[in-house]
Amino acid sequence: MSGKQYVEKMIACIAKRDPDQKMFRDTVTEVLSSIEPVLDAHPNYETAKILERMVEPERVIMFRVPWQDDKGECHVNRGFRVQMSSVIGPYKGGLRFHPSVTLDILKFLAFEQVYKNALTGLPIGGAKGGSDFDPHGRSDNEVMHFCQSFMTELYRHIGPDVDVPAGDIGVGGREIGYLYGQYKRIRDSYDAGVLTGKRVDFWGSFARTEATGYGLLYFVKNMLDAKGIGLKGKTLVVSGAGNVATYAIEKAQSFGAKVVTCSDSNGYVYDPDGIDLAALKDIKEVRRARIKEYVQTHPHAEYHEGCKGVWTVKCDVALPCATQSEIDLESAKRLVANGVQAVGEGANMPSTLDAIAYFLEHKILFAPAKAANAGGVAVSALEMAQNSERLQWTFEEVDGRLKDIMKRIYTNAKKNAETYGDPDNLVAGANITAFSKVAEAMLAQGLV
Ligand code: NDP
Repeated sequence: MSGKQYVEKMIACIAKRDPDQKMFRDTVTEVLSSIEPVLDAHPNYETAKILERMVEPERVIMFRVPWQDDKGECHVNRGFRVQMSSVIGPYKGGLRFHPSVTLDILKFLAFEQVYKNALTGLPIGGAKGGSDFDPHGRSDNEVMHFCQSFMTELYRHIGPDVDVPAGDIGVGGREIGYLYGQYKRIRDSYDAGVLTGKRVDFWGSFARTEATGYGLLYFVKNMLDAKGIGLKGKTLVVSGAGNVATYAIEKAQSFGAKVVTCSDSNGYVYDPDGIDLAALKDIKEVRRARIKEYVQTHPHAEYHEGCKGVWTVKCDVALPCATQSEIDLESAKRLVANGVQAVGEGANMPSTLDAIAYFLEHKILFAPAKAANAGGVAVSALEMAQNSERLQWTFEEVDGRLKDIMKRIYTNAKKNAETYGDPDNLVAGANITAFSKVAEAMLAQGLV
């Protein structure tokens, strides 16, 4: 059967088997539809049932997370870990604490993670996990109790050479600290490499906090440089106000760009003078408050309820750094009509499939998430390497390696885009690079 037929068969099979898992189906569709030429060139992939194996996680763990709040009231949340693939290295991927977390979302994220991790060129497999727990409005004590209960089950499924979780939405340095403390207590062993994103004083990596946002800008700069477009003086629209958004803004500003927006799940801020990063960090990292507080100290800036409006702001480059599906077709049309030249995905799958198709059709330079935001997991893998050798590299050394890795990811994606058709289609280029690497390793390891 042709590559196209094999892909259609797989997508139909997923739709039938898990009809409620739309996000997972969409991401599988996005990856597989761009690798059809590779399947045509390698009929042995079908014989070895490569796609059938790739879309089925190696293991899914679901568990109960009971915990008590400060008033003594009991709560029960759901915990998950989707261990998608260990073909290239130990399972690796973040933990997300957010009320929207479902098995569908974590399967989509774990699937993406396999290919993103393969792109880094480092020895890491793919996984994702988390809980429908909402940390907003919870005290440090409540978050600690939740993290301890979560780890009391998760610890038996992870380890420095088995599965190495990290942070994601709702899981930052504070949560990683509590999770690590409980793991260490249960195991009675100092396995620093079991979690990444740790504070640097207990063997986290310098530059891990900055890595995803910085890496996004390194990738976007490579993409723009290739077209002779500089970032200096450009107007950027960024969504989100969390880890990825904050450090994307920081690096963009250091490249001389003006970032005029940031957002949270309630609304967005537009500052025509450029976002004041120190104020943003104070609101989000120190006070854990809502972004609307920005206008209290910056009266010339505007706050608008609803986060989708951010895509109506005129810009040269758009960087979605909040969450999945935040740019739909309507927002993509608005961005293009307003003259956007490039889109770089900091969040995971922030653009819907029809939005991506619209950008590509209109020749907008498009940096897909699995390549453009791979800097975070790349530095996580460097954190694992440092933990193995019980050494800590300097900020400059890690940042230098990150820059090299992002350049390599861009170059490989570009080369495969050129080889297989449209030289500017980095979605296809990245998918083909990653898929080929994972598929070849699977073939070499036999039917497992
Ligand atoms: P954070 O929790 O630090 O920040 C998330 C930001 O997005 C917050 O401003 C949050 O607002 C906003 N947000 C969350 N959900 C929604 C929603 N449904 N609608 C609008 N805004 C929303 O997470 P990160 O910055 O770490 O992650 C952001 C994205 O980047 C995610 O897609 C994540 O998977 C991806 N990513 C993160 C990496 C990392 O290293 N951290 C690595 C690679 C990808 P609020 O505070 O109101 O919830």
